[in-house]
Amino acid sequence: MAYDDNNIFARILRGEIPCKKVYEDDHALAFHDVKPQARTHVLVIPKGAYVSMEDFSQRASDAEIAGLIRAVGKVARELGLAESGYRILANHGPDSRQEVPHLHIHIFGGQDLGRLISPAG
Ligand code: AMP
Repeated sequence: MAYDDNNIFARILRGEIPCKKVYEDDHALAFHDVKPQARTHVLVIPKGAYVSMEDFSQRASDAEIAGLIRAVGKVARELGLAESGYRILANHGPDSRQEVPHLHIHIFGGQDLGRLISPAG
């Protein structure tokens, strides 16, 4: 799938659309999800143009991959989730129902998140 320069997160990265920013560095931007699905729900995105994990894991440089993963850990710590715990999730493609075609790692926390189970079938 080709990267769409006009997806909403690309527009946030260009500053065309506001976001509730929680963190930014050379490789990553983190902001609150507009429709939170947990008491804390933050998205961490790479600054590079990658559609999803499938794309990022093939094309991103080691520095970009390290940068994104370090940012996820740092954001979770800064949100005060390191002790209580958190869940990360990245959707790729139709079966996951990915909505925004720019890689984003969800961080959920601030409450008991329950078990991650969904019956097959
Ligand atoms: P996904 O289903 O993994 O593609 O998740 C997309 C997420 O982006 C959803 O949780 C949306 O609520 C969130 N979202 C969509 N638009 C915005 C926005 N402008 N600012 C923050 N979060 C957004």
